[in-house]
Amino acid sequence: MGPRIIIHGGFFSESHTDEITKKAKQDAMEDIVRRSYAYLLEHTALETVVYAVSLLEDCELFNAGTGSQIQSDGVIRMSASVMDGISKKFAGVINIENVKNPVQVAASLLSKEDSVLGGTGALHYARSAGFEAYDPEIPQRRLEYEAKLGLARLGTVGCVALDIQGDLAAATSTGGKGFEIPGRISDSATTAGNFVNEYCGVSCTGVGEDILRVALASKIVTRVTDGFSLQEAYDKTFAELKSFDGFAGAIALDKNGSFGHTDSHPSMVYAWFDGENLGMFGNREYTEEEQAV
Ligand code: ASP
Repeated sequence: MGPRIIIHGGFFSESHTDEITKKAKQDAMEDIVRRSYAYLLEHTALETVVYAVSLLEDCELFNAGTGSQIQSDGVIRMSASVMDGISKKFAGVINIENVKNPVQVAASLLSKEDSVLGGTGALHYARSAGFEAYDPEIPQRRLEYEAKLGLARLGTVGCVALDIQGDLAAATSTGGKGFEIPGRISDSATTAGNFVNEYCGVSCTGVGEDILRVALASKIVTRVTDGFSLQEAYDKTFAELKSFDGFAGAIALDKNGSFGHTDSHPSMVYAWFDGENLGMFGNREYTEEEQAV
């Protein structure tokens, strides 16, 4: 079995995403998954998830890095994390401002004793580590903010990769859910939103509070570790999410090279590639029950 990779770009926000934007997101996903796969052939899974999530952060169609959503006080604060399946090291930044690639700041923390930093401390660290000042705002997000559209559930990006050595890694990055109270903590830089070990890796999107309530990523990975199939782990964990009508989606890749994806509401934007076959998106229809929400 060869190396493989799966990426996601959060949810389509059906009421706010026109067909042109959908197509543009799909094209961007295909381009990024193919480029990241080519990178994976010569790099580790850990290096590749940082590379892929950086490309997603740089694409302003997605709510992470450039194009992140604006919080209720008019400021962009981003969160990102990286985890290595072999060493089990986890690093992250929470509510960092004015950097281009939060995932790269997170990756640079993997070698530090204090590996999850928040707010101004994260920013001071980033500057001291050589990450230059960068404004991630795009005009579209300012217009949405000024119109007070409150486009929640728009985004988050993530990646899980399996490399030639059979090692897994995962990374996740977000601009948050939009219009949040300053100081709110997203799931994306926690082990509920991004988790991997030698058996399985998961990256989540959706409402951070819901993802935290079920410890979504770490629970799916733990169930696979304890002998569940990927599908059984998904079914059991999403049933727990459904018990309080939680809103979330998750991509996964296990050590056998099986891809996983489930979302509680349509439709997550995702793509996977194994060097031959390309898989794209959920694109399932709303059920009547979901349409009524
Ligand atoms: N999970 C992110 C958060 O709650 C948002 C998202 O995935 O769209 O901050």
